[in-house]
Amino acid sequence: MILHHRLLPRLLIVPSTHTSTSTLLRPSRLPRHLSLSPRFSALSHLAAPQTVDHSDDEGQHLDHLDNEGRHQGEVQVKLSLDRLFVPPGATVDSGDQDAVSARVLKGSNIVLGPYARGDAQVVNADFVKSSVRPDDCPRDGLPEFALVGRSNVGKSSLLNSLVRRKRLALTSKKPGKTQCINHFKVNDSWYLVDLPGYGYASAPQEARTNWDEFTRNYFLSRENLVSVFLLIDASIPAKKIDLDYASWLGQNRVPMTLVFTKCDKRKKKKNGGRRPEENVETFQGLIREYFEAAPPWIMTSSVTNQGRDEILLHMSQLRNYWLKH
Ligand code: GDP
Repeated sequence: MILHHRLLPRLLIVPSTHTSTSTLLRPSRLPRHLSLSPRFSALSHLAAPQTVDHSDDEGQHLDHLDNEGRHQGEVQVKLSLDRLFVPPGATVDSGDQDAVSARVLKGSNIVLGPYARGDAQVVNADFVKSSVRPDDCPRDGLPEFALVGRSNVGKSSLLNSLVRRKRLALTSKKPGKTQCINHFKVNDSWYLVDLPGYGYASAPQEARTNWDEFTRNYFLSRENLVSVFLLIDASIPAKKIDLDYASWLGQNRVPMTLVFTKCDKRKKKKNGGRRPEENVETFQGLIREYFEAAPPWIMTSSVTNQGRDEILLHMSQLRNYWLKH
């Protein structure tokens, strides 16, 4: 089923077939049945779209998003219902495609549900601490979102863009803190967590191994982790290491949102002949095989601030649902 979107500008037009990239190795197929810890069992529905419930429509529209700084748009989007992320607590009515389309956040597959609140915008943000072990992380139980991605993917830039501060993320780039879990408290009520970048070609093998274990322990043990935001550079073709990472998070039922960065970089020649939209579509095509349902994804740019308000709304609805359940 194809949804035509009237409100959203510059959205991805998703072709019905996906391109395969012969240079990429594929992550291993996800096992069908996984034994889930209670936390991941409870939260696993945040990682992937809900089964679309056709019985009810929340009737919620994006009108209030204008107050959040959204740009009303000109371009159509075509996304089939089964490729949308319907957040927990929301339902969509497949019989009313316009209403469903009007609730999809710009440049994403994320449906806005009833848990998105006026608390989305960042009023204040402060660096709290750097931790070298998951056990050292703050223990106040506030909900948190972890940003992770290959080095140079644009993680610091995105963090600064989200909190509207030019240099906040510099804290985590200081020597000695790049391999730490860095907590930033937002609005005194939730955390953005900057995790070490992966894929340093020059890092010694031992350091890379430590990083893996340390970060993976964090993913598996952190009770108040609402969702991982896995950053993928949309200006270059998909990398095996990113696919492996997405696959690993999926296999371990760690709730995940894909954040495509650098979507403003449109020079085809420089980017290996492909536009960000094409790279985004290819990446999704490659991971589709390994997930029962597509995870939420969103296109961003720290240069134009594309996707900033939408990510914050997505975080708001995940956070408020998490707090209530
Ligand atoms: P990190 O290593 O993942 O923290 O990446 P940085 O935020 O330091 O960014 C790495 C490089 O990519 C820098 O040169 C940034 O200026 C550039 N960059 C980051 N985000 C964007 C973006 O959205 N668009 C463009 N065009 N460049 C970006």
